[in-house]
Amino acid sequence: MTARAAADVRLADLPLRPELVGEEPYGAPQLDVPVCLNVNENPYPPSPAVIEAIGQAAAAAAGSMNRYPDREALALRTGLAGYLNRSGYALTADNIWAANGSNEVMIHLMQAFAGPDRTVMTFPPTYSMYPEYARDTHSRYVTVPRRADFTLDLDAALAAIAAERPDLVIVCSPNNPTGTSTDLSVIARLCDATDGIVVADEAYQEFARAGTRSALDLLPDHPNLVVSRTMSKAFAFAGGRLGYLAAAPAVVDACRIVRLPYHLSAITQAVATVALDHADEMLSRVDDLRTERDKLVVWLGERGLATAETDANFVLFGRFVDRHAVFQALLDRGVLIREVGPEGWLRVSAGTPAEMDAFRTALLEVLPDCPRITEE
Ligand SMILES: *Cc1c(COP(=O)(O)O)cnc(C)c1O
Repeated sequence: MTARAAADVRLADLPLRPELVGEEPYGAPQLDVPVCLNVNENPYPPSPAVIEAIGQAAAAAAGSMNRYPDREALALRTGLAGYLNRSGYALTADNIWAANGSNEVMIHLMQAFAGPDRTVMTFPPTYSMYPEYARDTHSRYVTVPRRADFTLDLDAALAAIAAERPDLVIVCSPNNPTGTSTDLSVIARLCDATDGIVVADEAYQEFARAGTRSALDLLPDHPNLVVSRTMSKAFAFAGGRLGYLAAAPAVVDACRIVRLPYHLSAITQAVATVALDHADEMLSRVDDLRTERDKLVVWLGERGLATAETDANFVLFGRFVDRHAVFQALLDRGVLIREVGPEGWLRVSAGTPAEMDAFRTALLEVLPDCPRITEE
């Protein structure tokens, strides 16, 4: 490279991989506004007792910070299995893999099972990170659109699996950004139809309406199924960065091959274990958030807005001729939501009652100036 000050070198001067040229880093705007309803966080901070326990665990971990952490994160994985087993399963640490957010879990799965000359299949509109995982692992990315009501089109999915022979199939359920749950019978059919890995991304499962079963039910009879979970949403632990999966022990072994050594810091392992020890408390606001979500769906409907059926802690609503204008007008009133999903729709997270009041007040001010797309 010709001599020049490092400060003057631009991205275009570097030998960046061609598929990354012009790409932007992923992420919703992190803005300092009074009401943040844009990234589906649990709005309730930990209790003083949990804050105290997290502090003590971090201090204890600090005492051996000169040593590498447990590479296998065995205590944490045992705690995660115990948490899932509260719902009647019989999982052990051998069934669990954990990483820095389920985003990293998903990258491990991609590195192990996708990659060059391999194919990843998803069902859009869905989580916008999936194509980025595929890009970053040089995997071919194919999609099968959902139906107009955002449910998964099983016949189309089975036909596409037969034609495209995917190595990894990702079903987000409840689906981000629509909130749609996928029936277990559909997930079972996908597992039966492929020798590839089927991932059920259940980041929002704890918010599902009563009676909605987890794909964990299917694990004993479906060795190619992986259920992905996170502590970022219902568990109110987004800042702790802890995601995990449950699957056959062989799938966990595959992840252990591709993970970086000591990928989970001693601090992460210690504080996530504390959070799991306080699971009831960490999850105590899930019912409140579900209530706010369901109230909001009714309220939006009464204002003549369309909503997608949701089992998550957010609502997709619309449809607007100019959704960006609605997003911006709400932001001007101190309410940050997310411009995501199919054209015309917007997504709002379930927050505290006060946050939802602020959202409703702002939206009422905005609505008269924002034309809707009328359903055909
Ligand atoms: C938020 C979210 C995740 C979780 O990401 P983390 O890395 O665990 O914070 C995973 N999948 C979907 C669909 C999500 O919306």
